[in-house]
Amino acid sequence: MSKVTEIFGSKVFNDETMKERLPKDAYKALRHTIEEGKPLDRDLANVIAHAMKEWAIELGATHFTHWFQPMTGVTAEKHDSFIQPDGNGKVIMTFSGKELVKGEPDASSFPSGGLRATFEARGYTAWDPTSPVFVKDDTLCIPTAFCSYSGEALDKKTPLLRSMEALDKQAVRVLKLFGHDDVKRVITTVGPEQEYFLIDSEMFNKRPDLIYTGRTLFGAKPPKGQELDDHYFGTIKPRVSAYMKELDEELWKLGILAKTKHNEVAPAQHELAPIFSTTNIATDHNQLTMEIMKVVAKRHGMTCLLHEKPFAGVNGSGKHNNWSISTDTGVNLLEPGATPSQNTQFLLFLTAVIKAVDEYQDLLRVSVASAGNDHRLGANEAPPAIISMFIGDELEAIVESIIEGTDYTDVKKKKMSIGTSVVPSISQDTTDRNRTSPFAFTGNKFEFRSLGSAASISGPNIILNTIVAEELDKFATELEKAKDLDKAIEKLVKRELTAHKRIIFNGNGYSEEWVKEAEKRGLTNLKSTVDALPAFVSQKAIDVFTKHSVLTEQELYSRYDIQLENYYKVIDIEALTMDAMVKKNIMAAASDYQYTLAETLNAKAATGIKIDSSVEKKRLEQASELTVKMDERLEKLESDIEKGKELTETYDLAKFHHDVIFADMNELREVVDELETLVPSDIWPYPTYGEILYSVK
Ligand code: ADP
Ligand code: MG
Repeated sequence: MSKVTEIFGSKVFNDETMKERLPKDAYKALRHTIEEGKPLDRDLANVIAHAMKEWAIELGATHFTHWFQPMTGVTAEKHDSFIQPDGNGKVIMTFSGKELVKGEPDASSFPSGGLRATFEARGYTAWDPTSPVFVKDDTLCIPTAFCSYSGEALDKKTPLLRSMEALDKQAVRVLKLFGHDDVKRVITTVGPEQEYFLIDSEMFNKRPDLIYTGRTLFGAKPPKGQELDDHYFGTIKPRVSAYMKELDEELWKLGILAKTKHNEVAPAQHELAPIFSTTNIATDHNQLTMEIMKVVAKRHGMTCLLHEKPFAGVNGSGKHNNWSISTDTGVNLLEPGATPSQNTQFLLFLTAVIKAVDEYQDLLRVSVASAGNDHRLGANEAPPAIISMFIGDELEAIVESIIEGTDYTDVKKKKMSIGTSVVPSISQDTTDRNRTSPFAFTGNKFEFRSLGSAASISGPNIILNTIVAEELDKFATELEKAKDLDKAIEKLVKRELTAHKRIIFNGNGYSEEWVKEAEKRGLTNLKSTVDALPAFVSQKAIDVFTKHSVLTEQELYSRYDIQLENYYKVIDIEALTMDAMVKKNIMAAASDYQYTLAETLNAKAATGIKIDSSVEKKRLEQASELTVKMDERLEKLESDIEKGKELTETYDLAKFHHDVIFADMNELREVVDELETLVPSDIWPYPTYGEILYSVK
């Protein structure tokens, strides 16, 4: 491998490259645009575009694209080449400032949730200079926002940028109260840990369910799953290790700070975590990471599964959204310091987050809702569907003392003794781990753990930024009027912690008792996507999003619609795939198996052996019974699929697919999985869980 320091960012038009390649005035203007959102004038845009093109061509690029993130959840790109006829039968390579700044993709096929009438096919992409351009696959990629003709956001980037601005504005107000006039900007930072599965492509290609839906719709439990916990952090197999090395290298070239890699809990499951960056860039980078993960896997004859639950009965994949707030002067506002109980500013920000999470539990739940993630949340392997917070013993004791008005002495960080003098003693962390909490304070950041592995991290961060901005806004408004600031803060913090203490829970989030306790505390428990989504268009949600200019009411409704539609379409595709697999191949396998048994029985009978109590007869009866049951359940699924077609309202369709179709699918799966345990592998048409999960040797 070439030197990491040399390859890192080699395909990114980053600050260093800009400085090197742009005239001084153009560089300065661009920095102003990046840092303060100042518009660029046309001439300078032309100069910058030209420099970008020259740089990209040196890296082998022939095309450029406005790279954007429509509501599909994946990224979109339409490539244009740089070529321009020179009038003499040849071409020159050109790229103008106009092409850099604005694009007009014919975007009528992207989901808009009714925001863009089909006759108005035009969508606009606008350059987001806060995320650097890069070269991927011989194409100069320009991160852009995507909106409709009348300016409504049609993507996942626009509201994210708006939410970052909202939080910036309110946090700066609060910091002014503490005399931090030097702070010009407050940014949110995110480090998303990404889980994924790697399987051999040969296995993948034999499973239509994986191909069409990203998850297995059938599969009996393998004899060995994750019981022994021997995969977690285990030695990485050579084939996987080669993959991870190449993945790191590809990500580094794109300036992505890939840092940690390890095996996860389930067989064939792994994780990658980057060093955190600003939320906007972290979001772009996570989208790129998921894309590159798949591309590199193919090169190694493997397939990368990003679905939240590729295998039933085996841990699914999530994404931990580590989130914090920092100033442009480099201060992490969620850093408690050595004496957190004396750190009023920290306590105020902490209180804002606690209040936000409690008041907008439902929105946080909505932000992680999808058909895929429904399989994980509340299924004892991922946080429950109930949103609560873990803040660790130390902070909990501080919160308690504030509420009770008792004295608190900050604990000196204990040294941990390991009991041997060869290992140096280490300081104990203030927060111990609580893996079952959806929203945990981990030292100097919050870790939102309910995200699914496949979705963009944009949604959860839009909500997090907006709801915290809302609380900071309220705090600032109250405190700006105060005569005695210290007293006012003390009063506010005590009042709000008392009011929102119920959201703090340090116990086991997987337990049945917690479900009951949470209900007593009045916390919401929105079990499925369909249960959760209506909260997105509640009056409370409309109020907070419009107040901070993050999403208009219309934009909210469009997103609500798109998500409901996505939900039932996913279930629909799964149901149709299941139907085809059973009707064609699994039924046939069941018949083949019965035929073999019947043949054996006939042959036995011909020799005069008594067959009444034979194993073959017993198996034949079992298989025959299961096949009849399977057929009944298949018919039920098919007739319900037909019934679903009569519904027209998006919500009704989503609800029907959850309550009826999904339930039918589970019933059908149950018989098929039982049948699989009987039928010999040479007759069963699909690779088993064991074969898939242990396919990468
Ligand atoms: P663990 O698996 O123990 O949760 P990891 O090291 O895998 O820890 O991931 C921690 C993540 O938190 C990393 O992506 C890291 O960059 C991120 N992180 C650390 N500090 C911050 C911060 N101030 N803001 C946002 N993310 C952070
Ligand atoms: Mg983590």
